[in-house]
Amino acid sequence: MTVTTWDELLVGEELAYLTTEPAREPRTAAVPDDLRPELREALARRGIDALYAHQAESYAAARSGRNVIVTTGTASGKTLAFNLPVLDALAADRHARALYLYPTKALAQDQARSLGELGVAGVRAAIYDGDTPTERRRQIRGWANLVLTNPDMLHIGVLPRHDLWGDFLHNLRFVVVDEAHVYRGVFGSHVANVLRRLRRLARIYGAEPQFLLASATIANADGLARALTGEEATVVEDDAAPRAERTVALWNPPLLDAELGLRASALGEASRLLAALTGRGLRTICFAKSRKSAELIHRFASDRLDAATAARLAPYRAGYTPQQRREIERRLVEGDLLGVTSTDALELGIDIGDLDCAISVGFPGTVASLRQQWGRAGRRGHGLAILVASEDALDQYFMREPPALLERRVEAAILDHANPRVLDGHVAAAAFEAPVDEGDAETLGAEALERAPHVPELRHTPRGWVWAGKDAPAARVPLRSTSPDAFLVVDASTGDVLGLAERERAYSTVHEGAVYLHLGRQYLVRELDLGTRRALVEPFDGNWYTQAKKETETAIEEPLRVERRLGLELSFGRVSVTEQVVAYQKKAVADGSTLDTVALDLPPTTFDTEAVWFVPRPHQLEGLEAMPLLLSSLHAAEHSLIALLPLWAMCDRWDIGGLSTNLHLDTGAPTVFVYDGHAGGVGIAERGFVQFEGWVADTARLLEGCPCERGCPSCVQSPKCGNLNEFLDKAGALTLLRRMLAA
Ligand SMILES: [Zn+2]
Ligand SMILES: [Zn+2]
Repeated sequence: MTVTTWDELLVGEELAYLTTEPAREPRTAAVPDDLRPELREALARRGIDALYAHQAESYAAARSGRNVIVTTGTASGKTLAFNLPVLDALAADRHARALYLYPTKALAQDQARSLGELGVAGVRAAIYDGDTPTERRRQIRGWANLVLTNPDMLHIGVLPRHDLWGDFLHNLRFVVVDEAHVYRGVFGSHVANVLRRLRRLARIYGAEPQFLLASATIANADGLARALTGEEATVVEDDAAPRAERTVALWNPPLLDAELGLRASALGEASRLLAALTGRGLRTICFAKSRKSAELIHRFASDRLDAATAARLAPYRAGYTPQQRREIERRLVEGDLLGVTSTDALELGIDIGDLDCAISVGFPGTVASLRQQWGRAGRRGHGLAILVASEDALDQYFMREPPALLERRVEAAILDHANPRVLDGHVAAAAFEAPVDEGDAETLGAEALERAPHVPELRHTPRGWVWAGKDAPAARVPLRSTSPDAFLVVDASTGDVLGLAERERAYSTVHEGAVYLHLGRQYLVRELDLGTRRALVEPFDGNWYTQAKKETETAIEEPLRVERRLGLELSFGRVSVTEQVVAYQKKAVADGSTLDTVALDLPPTTFDTEAVWFVPRPHQLEGLEAMPLLLSSLHAAEHSLIALLPLWAMCDRWDIGGLSTNLHLDTGAPTVFVYDGHAGGVGIAERGFVQFEGWVADTARLLEGCPCERGCPSCVQSPKCGNLNEFLDKAGALTLLRRMLAA
């Protein structure tokens, strides 16, 4: 394949940026002398006669007894980096045990398969998850020395029944946490507590396991390891794997109306690229954010191709069995399939072979995810990776500021295990597992002991805090929610539970008539039952989405940190947020136009969370004081700040809320709030406080660069604005932010 194959495509006004990341030679290290012969032989059988330097470094650090987090790039051999010390220990000591945690069952299956292929004598690996038949479980507990599971199973299936796992825990040498960057936000805050409970029980049974973590590249690898496990870890981040040359193109659909900031459809552009690349015989994968989008891209691309080529394109869906995945992989490898469109269900490291090109349609939310998608292109030869921008503000920001996407490393995986809304359930679960006393502060954290008196159903006894309730409390603590009274989202056509909607967000996301997205699939909410806390949904194929209109108020409960920053008073602290959803709009997928507005009658909800807020000084608002200009300027600043916070803290803009007001009761002045959308907060707002200067500078650049005249979806408009994007003044917001930065 020659580069010119795609060169002629990468031209025109759509091409926002083009660069080539050079090939890199591997840096290798000898297979360590002290490695067990069983393992050496297994490596030799796989044709491995040397390690990459980072694999050797991880092995050495683990061998010396340290915890390790490896954050090298996609396809750099991270798996071998943690497998070597573990398998070596298992081969050396037939009593030793290891636990591997994967965020999904599919990933655990892939890892079990590759462990099997490696075939190290003495290693007995088994999956233990919700699908494991009861009669097999007992056998696995006794027989396996390497157990692969997921955090949910550990949380409700293993830890509360630790008496069955006594031998395993007593001999637990290693805990592997793969895809560690996935454990962030609410889920990460829970998993951090599950791992602390695991450490405590292991200690009770006499073991101090080492933690080996692997993560996508993030800004805070050491911080994530510490937050997740409660212990320090050695960071291995110097990637020594070889890399093929890769061309990277940032592709911006053409501007159709400069004044309104209206652009051509990203789906259309993606299908054009997909058709052109596959038409040249290049194996290409195209990632879209929803199944609907993936299907449309597939259809549009097929329409552009002759029948024979179109027959070699296929959509790829979540939920395929390993056999179906391998079938698609085989067809791709053999060249029978040329193009695959997929939702980002594939992004979690599941391998479907080596491709020439990868197209990401819309920024997938984190640089780590984007790199994982792009990592599928050109593993063997020169590859092509493309980001097709959506109209979203962050996408458009990257089109104009490519280094912010390609060079800066600011994205941090944030969690807060000490959020009482998260922690309390785990304190109860820990007390159920064994009485909690002062000594447990070392593993559970001091915060757990502080919370114990506040947890109902705990009783203080001479042995410590014990569980006085009836059932096992862990079952009541869902790992993906901060509220125990979350709403269940149920597919009425099958009875399947699709997920949970936290109470404080249920009214805006699963109200009657809402279009709900789950694993890339669309559902329509038929009924929201407030009594039983259930949202009944059904599969939906319509061409609209919904946006809730709501009224929001905030009250400052307690400022925790107040500093003079950018010429004004910046605060971080606890607030309470009251929201009432009053209506929703139906909007066309094609162009975002409003089809209908429907009133809703729902009660207000109040929750406590964390926020960062600021009160601009009078001179910073000079000339903007008149209403409604003042409110519009603050509101536009709030929206654009929210749009860019995910660049700093790995989260979705849907995880963040905001409020701007010309007069706030608590501050007595014009105020902008940006708050954590999860009850109790998971550290997102605090990250904004810490990184305020960089965050505001990015936001000002976003507004400066947007070509629209008075504000558009790519700068100040928000797809989740409770006021439906009324009262937004882009120029006023930019004036304010510039004055702050000049301070
Ligand atoms: Zn704009
Ligand atoms: Zn708004």
